[in-house]
Amino acid sequence: MTEILEHRDVPLGGLRAMTVRRTLPQRQRSLIGAWCFLDHYGPDRVDETGGMVVSPHPHIGLQTVSWLFGGVIEHRDSVGTHALVKPGELNLMTAGRGISHSEVSTDEVTVLHGVQLWVALPADQRDVEPAFTHYAPPVVHGPGWDAQVFLGSMLGSRSPVETFTPLVGAEMILDGGTTLTPETEPEFEYGVLVDFGLVHVNGEEVKQHQLAYVAPGERVEIEAADLSHLLVIGGRPLGEDIVMWWNFVGRDHDEVVSAREDWMAQISDNNGTIRDSSEIYDGRFGIVTGDHLPPVPAPALPNARLKPRR
Ligand code: MN
Repeated sequence: MTEILEHRDVPLGGLRAMTVRRTLPQRQRSLIGAWCFLDHYGPDRVDETGGMVVSPHPHIGLQTVSWLFGGVIEHRDSVGTHALVKPGELNLMTAGRGISHSEVSTDEVTVLHGVQLWVALPADQRDVEPAFTHYAPPVVHGPGWDAQVFLGSMLGSRSPVETFTPLVGAEMILDGGTTLTPETEPEFEYGVLVDFGLVHVNGEEVKQHQLAYVAPGERVEIEAADLSHLLVIGGRPLGEDIVMWWNFVGRDHDEVVSAREDWMAQISDNNGTIRDSSEIYDGRFGIVTGDHLPPVPAPALPNARLKPRR
């Protein structure tokens, strides 16, 4: 049975809030494989939305995948990366034990369109060293379809980028009338996000901005009614309870609390005032240099203890 997940609109924050369509996590589903977060945005006119201005903020226990369909984002992080995120190129940031980064759409950008995903790291590797990887996958073709496989293996294309759990991620364009049933891994679960167009996944209609979920062991048959632009993700179910709060993926409440304290200690002076970007202290999350943006303070924790979810 294919499950249809609707998005909810979430302001991304920053100086002027651009809105994203969030399809993961949600009440009925936290994860697809180790994919634990899926934000989809645009195409947005930057002169209307203000574009993307996300000041330095921390992460633990996850990898971020930035994949653009249009526009350019300038990425800076505390392992010294300064990269331009461009359409059709994977930018994978491993937070591990702690990283901080900023993301800003460049001045030349008029339209911004893409996705940002997070991958939860498995418990025994969630404290790995922070890192950044870039990969431009080839476009592979078949009858009525084009695809770029940026993580894992599908449609005869294999990404060399290593992951900590078995995963796949691909962008696909199908002509109207095309049916594509990619070879799948029997232990994987899959998600099909429709950027534009209209498809049926295993016979179930999936409209623009919806995410279809396919359980392990089922085929993934995609029939395009119209020209359709898709993101396909999948992976072996993580099988672990995680705690997701703000920008952190941990295993319990205390782990998230200590990450929050470590970040706030780096960005606050002795009176608890948030320092500006040039004055933050070095520490677990390092320092992002060159963006001249003030760091993002963590929100207050909820009164109740954070509950793990699977
Ligand atoms: Mn981030």
